[in-house]
Amino acid sequence: MPKDVYTIADLRDWPTATTGETPPIRLSVFGDPVAHSRSPQMHNPALQAAGIPATYARLHILPDDLPEALRLLPESDFIGTNVTIPHKATALALMDEVDPQALRAGGVNTVVVEGRKLIGFSTDGPGIVRAIRADFGVDMRDLRILILGAGGGAGRAIAVQCAVESCARLVLVNRTFERAQSLAAELASSFRETRVIGPMMRLEAVPWDEDAFARQLPHIDLIINATPLGMAANPELRRVSPIPVALLRPYHLVYDTVYTVGRTPLLLAADEAGARASNGLSMLLHQGALSFEIWFSRPAPLEVMRNALMNG
Ligand code: NAP
Repeated sequence: MPKDVYTIADLRDWPTATTGETPPIRLSVFGDPVAHSRSPQMHNPALQAAGIPATYARLHILPDDLPEALRLLPESDFIGTNVTIPHKATALALMDEVDPQALRAGGVNTVVVEGRKLIGFSTDGPGIVRAIRADFGVDMRDLRILILGAGGGAGRAIAVQCAVESCARLVLVNRTFERAQSLAAELASSFRETRVIGPMMRLEAVPWDEDAFARQLPHIDLIINATPLGMAANPELRRVSPIPVALLRPYHLVYDTVYTVGRTPLLLAADEAGARASNGLSMLLHQGALSFEIWFSRPAPLEVMRNALMNG
């Protein structure tokens, strides 16, 4: 039986640590913490359905051990790995080659082992585009979007994707305002083209406060929470919606990237306001399917992955 979580000590002596594992573990997710990760739950059934003789496992890798862990992948015959909190930005600098999308997103969540080389990709941004299309039947490029947490890894990847798509309007909100401001400056060139969208600026960074939300939300279609608020360790934070229900309207689309909680306070507030709302499971699914496509150059068995996630 594979372990729930492997460690750097296991990776240092991988043949011994995984003796008798069939099919062999050749894919993984690196994280700290990682025990909560649901990636094996969708990738193992996908590998099985595709007839690929490989297993996907969790590896608890501490930040100091990340360079060594990545370097051990080729000699341990890995096909690749996913990297998650808190490694995405650090991993970028440890790649031999980086896909332009990942470079712009400032982080890597998918690594391909090619000979001795490590090649980094980011599927978080393209994953949310597919998730929004699947959940709401709309394309992000047609929407006016507000991102909460536009200074963190996920928020940044989503904002970069909005720029790539040239979405109708983008409002960046972050607790540490300077991060939202510097991201807005970085993305400004993608929003110069004139599009008639009313009196508001196409790209803005605004502070995290209720007055700013009240001014912005009448000019927003899609609200994305990219903070961990719904699953915060502090129960006070976990209970309260980052946007008060009184500011939400039935025409809003609300997406919470948090997927460990079925209905976060933000989604409950959206339900109460009559808005359509969805949690981050679909983003997890689609970023995982895109990783599969990168590793194997073939379509992922999406329905198998979706069923495994929903029923797990
Ligand atoms: P991160 O890099 O640590 O960023 C955290 C972000 O949340 C920052 O913008 C931070 O603001 C903000 N934040 C943290 N605590 C806050 C608070 N109490 N009030 C207001 N803002 C707060 O983390 P990450 O990797 O981007 O992950 C963020 C969330 O996205 C997590 O919940 C994760 O599960 C989710 N995610 C989901 C998927 C998916 O597939 N569904 C994929 C990736 C990530 P400051 O800049 O001020 O610190």
